[in-house]
Amino acid sequence: MTTSDNFRQLHMINIKNNLDKIKAQIQQACQQSDRLIPTAELSKPSPVSLLAVSKTKPSALIEQAHLAGQNDFGENYLQEAVEKIAELAHLTDLTWHFIGPIQSNKTKQIASNFSWVHSVDREKIALRLNQHLEDDNCHNTPLNICLQVNISNEDSKSGVSIEQVFALAKVVDNCDKLTLRGLMAVPEKNAPKSCYERMQQLFTQLKEKYPSVDTLSLGMSNDLDSAVAHGSTMVRIGTAIFGARENKI
Ligand SMILES: *Cc1c(COP(=O)(O)O)cnc(C)c1O
Repeated sequence: MTTSDNFRQLHMINIKNNLDKIKAQIQQACQQSDRLIPTAELSKPSPVSLLAVSKTKPSALIEQAHLAGQNDFGENYLQEAVEKIAELAHLTDLTWHFIGPIQSNKTKQIASNFSWVHSVDREKIALRLNQHLEDDNCHNTPLNICLQVNISNEDSKSGVSIEQVFALAKVVDNCDKLTLRGLMAVPEKNAPKSCYERMQQLFTQLKEKYPSVDTLSLGMSNDLDSAVAHGSTMVRIGTAIFGARENKI
């Protein structure tokens, strides 16, 4: 075995272990909040899906996670993501989610490379994504959209304000090439419980209004339990799967 094989195998064990641990944690959090599926339906998928956030991590590690059964990956930085998506094009069962801030001049590349966008926070971005997909007929549409909500009301963070969520939802729902799937948020560190309750409430209201809505993208390595306790249907986990990020973020 070469050194690089050793290295790869070591990572593979870690990543598989980490994925198993996170899934167990999700399961436990579901149990604690009475979100368990009846035993008779145990073959059904978990009510909370796992998005592996692979930003700053090399394609080789994504490949290891894939070998361990992970198919959904989240990326924040477009250039880096597009390179990895190309490198991993041979894996045909990967689903890519864009979860980072969106500049309007990058919407075309986002629309053509991703199946999900979690960070739509203004009308202009939704309309541009839709327009690119209308222009590019061969793309596998519709594109799944979550609206990013500025739940902690921090000036510096992206996200639509709570007051504007329904207006933006209407815009997305009216776009032929977009499917409104739900809401996403990045609560500030140590955010109060009320913040999670508010997201849960908004999600319930949105679901009542739009039948296509089924996704609350909430919870990261540090707040998975609170998120699952408040109805999250998709947690976005980076550090707890791939280890700490160096450099960027
Ligand atoms: C980086 C990132 C994550 C993953 O965070 P971890 O703390 O590493 O689990 C999730 N969501 C968004 C939007 C991110 O930018």
